[in-house]
Amino acid sequence: MDSCVIPSPFQTLIFDLDDTLYSSKTGIGKALKRNVEDFLGEKFGISESEAQDMNRQLFRTYGSSLAGLRDLGYDIHPDDYHSFVHGRLPYDLIKPEAKLRSILQSIKQRKIIFTNSDRIHAMKALDRLGISDCFEKIICFETMNPALWGPASMEHPVVLKPSMEAMRIGVDAADVDPRRTLFLDDNVKNIAAGKAVGLRTVLVGRARKSQEADYAIETVTEMVQGIPEIWVGEGEGEGERSGDDNKRISHALNDMDSVYAATTVAA
Ligand SMILES: [Mg+2]
Repeated sequence: MDSCVIPSPFQTLIFDLDDTLYSSKTGIGKALKRNVEDFLGEKFGISESEAQDMNRQLFRTYGSSLAGLRDLGYDIHPDDYHSFVHGRLPYDLIKPEAKLRSILQSIKQRKIIFTNSDRIHAMKALDRLGISDCFEKIICFETMNPALWGPASMEHPVVLKPSMEAMRIGVDAADVDPRRTLFLDDNVKNIAAGKAVGLRTVLVGRARKSQEADYAIETVTEMVQGIPEIWVGEGEGEGERSGDDNKRISHALNDMDSVYAATTVAA
């Protein structure tokens, strides 16, 4: 390879929010689970352990309690549900992340949030992290489910990652070429769905890649070491690349070429 500037293989980065941009160890996830159980307890007048069982069942079958309850015919408005389960979360557990902020600011490509959570939750969490101004847009529950605010809303199932419909809505709303887009998420099923729509995938929170992950990083800030190709082709003279980095970058580009070739043949 000669000395010309190699462009980054990625034009856009799409980030999940919860357990991706902040750690699952903050306790927010646990508090959320308790709030969902409290919601079920109040709604159905059932005990704590019955609510836990019900939540587990709904999650296993439908991937979310709201999706399950609505599918079973309970007319629960998403705004009521979200204000109960997210509205009372202890957001002060999420702390400002200066390192993450400076990493995000150093990424010149488009950056977008793609979360199953509602918009108010996403904005609160991003504000707490101190990174809300780092993203061009938030693709969230409301983006995937506009019909739930319209007439005959009970006829529409809840759409969430990792369904193919959700992934297609996400890619459309982001307005990206999936082959040039890096998708970071902590959920193995979401990563598999991302791969299925052609995105380049990063499993966050694990040291080892799942089958459909192109990369795995234990925390989001490790993308600096784990995915240096994000930063290539940006501004001349911004530091030297090591031979190893060059090898990784040319590898990534070769990978991209084979994806293009396969797509062209199939088209
Ligand atoms: Mg997540």
